Amino acid sequence: MQPGASAEDVDGVVARVAAAGGEAFVSRGVSRTIIGLVGDVETFSGLNLRAMPGVADVMRVSAPYKLVSRLNHPQMSTVYVGGVPIGPDTFTLIAGPCAVETAQQTLEAAEMAQSAGATLLRGGAYKPRTSPYAFQGLGEDGLKILADVREATGLPIVTEVVDAHDVDLVASYADMLQVGTRNMANFSLLQAVGQCGKPVMLKRGMQATIEEWLMAAEYIAQRGNLDIVLCERGIRTFETATRNTLDVSAVPVAHDLAHLPVIVDPSHSGGRRDLVVPLSRAAIAVGADGIIVDVHPHPEQALCDGPQALVDDDLRALAAAVRQLPPLMGRRPADAATTVS
Ligand code: PEP
Ligand code: MN
Repeated sequence: MQPGASAEDVDGVVARVAAAGGEAFVSRGVSRTIIGLVGDVETFSGLNLRAMPGVADVMRVSAPYKLVSRLNHPQMSTVYVGGVPIGPDTFTLIAGPCAVETAQQTLEAAEMAQSAGATLLRGGAYKPRTSPYAFQGLGEDGLKILADVREATGLPIVTEVVDAHDVDLVASYADMLQVGTRNMANFSLLQAVGQCGKPVMLKRGMQATIEEWLMAAEYIAQRGNLDIVLCERGIRTFETATRNTLDVSAVPVAHDLAHLPVIVDPSHSGGRRDLVVPLSRAAIAVGADGIIVDVHPHPEQALCDGPQALVDDDLRALAAAVRQLPPLMGRRPADAATTVS
């Protein structure tokens, strides 16, 4: 309330809130009175309280997201992908080609990923390309290749879905569905993956605030799916030296606000092979629950994102970082045999 608000002004607010079915708690300070409201936010926003006599401001103090919020769920969640945990006790390396191109390329990339310590395979069969003229992915043929490579290597599959109509098809092959940065606010897609029965990796929109990202997760949770892993993949800033700017703060901030695991994509954030290992180290140091990294047997021939794909020495350096650093953060490597308390 404004400093000079009268007792009638305060009573007026309390009465209007009570008439709408809410509760109002009045706390009188020396110079100011604050009225705390408990009830349905949507109802309160229709009361036009801000225009009432004596009211200084109306602000929301509780998080607008509920199901993913840590307020009601202080313990951090672990999400299992084909039996592999992603959560607070472990560190999970997800690696593979940006795009599934051929059976041979996908198998070779999966073997590279596995040799570096990856326990989940990434690979896109539906590619959300900025240019409509760029390779759009193999579609269901790509999903079949991924399923064959899972059979050959034992690695569960993480793959992107870009259209709500494809969710059931992708979910019939995948162990985890990925919603990419360009679709973070595609609400019908979020609702569809919320009903798909498989875990979902939700990448942060490249222009989204952390709150918007968590609200997107809430859409998925609201449809009954709480197996959500958040992925920070870099945001757009004024900087042009990197493809995106990795927001390392997002990892501890999201961990503070939500009980969901948070991983980092150092490949799509830096966009450069030489940055992947340093950014991976940063991700581990800020407490990420895992990373998702592009690898390719022949990056110079890649149909998508070759400049950021790891091979040879860079891949070995990544493997060393992922072996050595997570134990310093109290984390164990995550595979299907890892037991989590
Ligand atoms: C990807 O992981 O292949 C991808 C397209 O990522 P993003 O949505 O973060 O650009
Ligand atoms: Mn990519």
